[in-house]
Amino acid sequence: MDSSKFFEELKQAGKIRYKCFSFHGPYEDFEEIITSYDWDMCQIQYNFMDINNQAGTKGLELAGRLGIPVVIMEGLLGGRLAKAPANVQALYDAVPVKRSPVEWAFRWLCNRPEVATVLSGCNELEQIDENLRIFDTVAPGIMSQDELDLMEQVRMAYLSRTKIDCTGCRYCMPCPNGVNIPGIFSAWNRVSLYDLDPKAEDHLRQVISKDEGAGHCIACGACEAACPQHLSIIESLQSAWKELT
Ligand code: SF4
Ligand code: SF4
Repeated sequence: MDSSKFFEELKQAGKIRYKCFSFHGPYEDFEEIITSYDWDMCQIQYNFMDINNQAGTKGLELAGRLGIPVVIMEGLLGGRLAKAPANVQALYDAVPVKRSPVEWAFRWLCNRPEVATVLSGCNELEQIDENLRIFDTVAPGIMSQDELDLMEQVRMAYLSRTKIDCTGCRYCMPCPNGVNIPGIFSAWNRVSLYDLDPKAEDHLRQVISKDEGAGHCIACGACEAACPQHLSIIESLQSAWKELT
């Protein structure tokens, strides 16, 4: 059965009211899915740090051209953007108007005309109050060019905290000794970018639970020979492991 017939039958049976999809994955898959059917809505991960990740800005704009409203998830990147590290907070503090990192992040999202709704996870009543206040004041096109420039500076300030330029391509894998090289570097970067407690980092917990730590590295050099970024993997693994564990 083709998908349009499938959805129409579900609608007629009263099982669904709208045809929507939620997406995590590479942009190419997003483009294929969103152009394959007359969707009523799509949901993507998006925030000012993920403009080139997953569906990204390219996917958001494609949805807009197709007239498909977009619901945003991970607008604060799992809460990581709610508390700014010192070099980022300094940028927020330097502008005359005072807003919390949460308000800047939501304002940046709602500025986009393609965004229909932003999902926001709240744990405390105060956060709901803050969300209600913020979303009462935002609208598409609300940000000035100076504010957009500030958010680009903020993005660059986060990226300046990157520990290692690992792209996650996995050409170095599998390590003959079981070391999860991209997993360790990903955790190292995330902990540094967002000033996280390593114990709270999911990637790191996975590496440790599967016994894929840098302690298993025997410095055979196979990974460095395969890395297109020419990274000093052996040395960096030890630095990362020392900082993370
Ligand atoms: S150098 Fe270490 S991490 Fe790299 S492949 Fe050899 S054992 Fe694995
Ligand atoms: S090959 Fe290099 S860039 Fe690719 S995942 Fe391994 S360390 Fe990262």
